[in-house]
Amino acid sequence: MEDRQFRNAMGNFATGVNVITTEVDGDVHGMTANAFMSVSLDPKLVVISVGENASMLEKIRKSKTYAVNILSKDQQELSMIFAGQIKEDRHVDFEWLADLPVIKGASTQISCEVVNEHVEGDHTLFIGKVVDLKLKDCSDPLVFYKGKYTSLEKSGVAI
Ligand code: FAD
Repeated sequence: MEDRQFRNAMGNFATGVNVITTEVDGDVHGMTANAFMSVSLDPKLVVISVGENASMLEKIRKSKTYAVNILSKDQQELSMIFAGQIKEDRHVDFEWLADLPVIKGASTQISCEVVNEHVEGDHTLFIGKVVDLKLKDCSDPLVFYKGKYTSLEKSGVAI
């Protein structure tokens, strides 16, 4: 099977867009990610998947913590900053939730402690125990579909 065919198949699954944040030795690092899901209600667990070439990988291994920041439709620029799609350095404001940096204005912020890690192929799955969360704003989410940013509004979905 061609990589392109696999990517196209996965791209047919529409997702939200998150920025994963963590802090190591006083430096805040962020990375755009859509590989995220809720795993368990009791205990409250989530999972993210981080590529082997991402600098975020070693940072989470060191900090043993991460936060998930769910973006809304007006935050595409933030997604592009933390995916390296905007090359110039940009200043981003962070606030703190359970001692973790979180993105100001994200619709939801979820702070986690890593309780398990599984290397699978070229990605590592980090299971996170949710230690705190804040629902800031339930506006239209930023959506990623077929390799492009979109929103429910643009897709004609009533919300
Ligand atoms: P870098 O490439 O070093 O950093 C990424 C960018 O963030 C850089 O431009 C950097 O300047 C900026 N940045 C970091 N910290 C700060 C800060 N404190 N202030 C301001 N700017 C900062 N990859 C995955 O592994 N898993 C996924 O689930 C995933 N999903 C994705 C979903 C989408 C929609 C997109 C567009 C990309 C996704 N990626 C995913 C790819 C991933 O976002 C990029 O490969 C990213 O560049 C990898 O980040 P890095 O940790 O290597 O950090």
